[in-house]
Amino acid sequence: MKLTILGSGTCVPYTERGSSGYALETPGARVLLDCGSGTTWKLARAGISYLDIDHIFLSHLHPDHTGDLVPFLFATKYAFGSPYGSKREKPLSLWGGRGFLEFFDALKNAYKDWTLPEGLSVGELGEGERDFGGFTLRAARVPHIESSLAYRIEAEGKTLAYSGDTDYSDALIGLARDADALIIECALPDGESKRSGHLTPGEVIEIANRSGARRIIVTHLYPVCDETGAIEKIRKGVRAEVTEARDLLEIEI
Ligand SMILES: [Zn+2]
Ligand SMILES: [Zn+2]
Repeated sequence: MKLTILGSGTCVPYTERGSSGYALETPGARVLLDCGSGTTWKLARAGISYLDIDHIFLSHLHPDHTGDLVPFLFATKYAFGSPYGSKREKPLSLWGGRGFLEFFDALKNAYKDWTLPEGLSVGELGEGERDFGGFTLRAARVPHIESSLAYRIEAEGKTLAYSGDTDYSDALIGLARDADALIIECALPDGESKRSGHLTPGEVIEIANRSGARRIIVTHLYPVCDETGAIEKIRKGVRAEVTEARDLLEIEI
């Protein structure tokens, strides 16, 4: 599996890091995890055709994880002039957690048919495992907002887990058990900066070590994390390999 980090940041405008988005390429499918603002443009920067994405899995319905959904769908619907061809040739499915169908209806009401490319299907995921043909995906609810899910994807004998946004979570530890890689959020520093619904470096260390994941990829970094050396702190405490997520970084899982 090849992972491309499209956005390693948050809602904060920051030249170093865009909003959340991750492209995962397996032999059988092209997957997007989250679609924050700039994701569609970053796909182009990474040389990945947006017309080739099979599934989009949203971790939750905050704007920094969903803001590029409409631009993505509009570009897909109206592909005229695209370097990747003028028409999408295969189905596209969108998945989110609790409330996603209502959320998508609201987008449809606002943007009419422009959000509805041919071959689109939309669904809500609950907890549990599902086979997508070429990969399996397991979802678990995590403590952030009502729609929040973390994911575990397995393909070709490799496993990738993604925390989405979350507070400390035993469900996430279970989901990331012995994974080849865990993409994990680290929003803000320890101490007074701790915000409910997000992880600090100290909590990332504990989750990483308890999960047994072989590699962790630290992401969703507010600028203050870069300013206060969050990654260095995590590196000192985690037994697994630690990678700092950077926009457009490619990682072989
Ligand atoms: Zn977020
Ligand atoms: Zn969020």
